[in-house]
Amino acid sequence: MKGIQYSFYVLLISLLVSYTNAQVVIFGTNNYVEYQVGTLPLVISVPHGGNLEPGSIPNRTCNSPVYAVDAFTIETALEIKNKLFAATGCYPHMVISHLKRNKLDVNRNLADGACGNPEAILAWGEFHDFIADARNAANQQYNDQTFFVDLHGHGNPIQRIELGYLLYDDELELSDNTLNTLQYINNSSIKNLALNNVNNYTHAELLRGPQAFGTFLTNNNFPSVPSQSIPFPGLTSNYYSGGYITANHTCYNPSVPINGLQMELNFSNLRDTPANRTAFANAFTQSIIEYFNAHFSLDWNSCNPLSTINPILDTTFFVHPNPVTRGNLIHFNLPENTFYEYQFFNLLGQLVVSGELNSDKTLDSEKLNSGVYITRILNKSSTVLMTNKIIIQ
Ligand SMILES: [Zn+2]
Repeated sequence: MKGIQYSFYVLLISLLVSYTNAQVVIFGTNNYVEYQVGTLPLVISVPHGGNLEPGSIPNRTCNSPVYAVDAFTIETALEIKNKLFAATGCYPHMVISHLKRNKLDVNRNLADGACGNPEAILAWGEFHDFIADARNAANQQYNDQTFFVDLHGHGNPIQRIELGYLLYDDELELSDNTLNTLQYINNSSIKNLALNNVNNYTHAELLRGPQAFGTFLTNNNFPSVPSQSIPFPGLTSNYYSGGYITANHTCYNPSVPINGLQMELNFSNLRDTPANRTAFANAFTQSIIEYFNAHFSLDWNSCNPLSTINPILDTTFFVHPNPVTRGNLIHFNLPENTFYEYQFFNLLGQLVVSGELNSDKTLDSEKLNSGVYITRILNKSSTVLMTNKIIIQ
């Protein structure tokens, strides 16, 4: 499964998703890994929340493996998805490993993570290819202004969120001036943002200034480090600075254009109950929107250019045949003897053709090129009566 072969396919799916609000989900071999295709400029990976323990994959024993499961991180990620959808009408891209960590660790290199087992090797590759597919699809839609979050849960005693930018605890003790030198910017998972952002904030400001992601989270009631109020974690807190996934799917890797971080969630008052996970998902949603608005020049709402179109209002109205062979008539199943306006949009949300529907309630598909369209039917007072996707082949 090669990312590059899938990127156009994924882009097309993500465009379709944005017009239908349905979400496409792709599973890897044996359903060990899952990719929920999104349309926001946000990719979230969840590597350590899985609980599958197939007998065909022996427990990992190579190179001192860690088995700790990041409890409820999949549930937390899915709640984040729901809250982002409620706020924006669109979904983030989400890649999940369902294998328990004693069988596979996708946050390690292939040798250490799969320990030579063929099924685990396949799942490891599919997980990373799905992230690459998600990055490529989001980057095509948003001109490389995608943000990446590798979502984990930590077991450290201090109940706060640890944001890992690939800078160690002792490096975060350094002065702002030192962190703003190229030596440290080049080691950061937000390197490209530090070198080029709309307000010219410095690297240190992006890590722990008033507009840092950790500060937004803290202001939304989830204390985080680094942030304005907790600028560094201390040297004895077992702080997580970021791992293999963050190093390979952010601009720390020179072949990847996007910025991102590892996010380690505390358990108490965050992951521990459904109500706390919902509260955190709301805070995450608020924070990531504030973060995008602060540092990126993109149209956040462009994820769903037809979001103002009403869904199908009356299922007795429909269009047939669908798909229609180009040159044949498209029939609209509508009550007779009324004025109707038709509109056809392409997948960029651009109006392609419109007009008054004839008394037969048909349209010659010859007017349009082959492709996928969103059609709307409006009444005399411009109320949308019907929205349909139609394929002309
Ligand atoms: Zn983890």
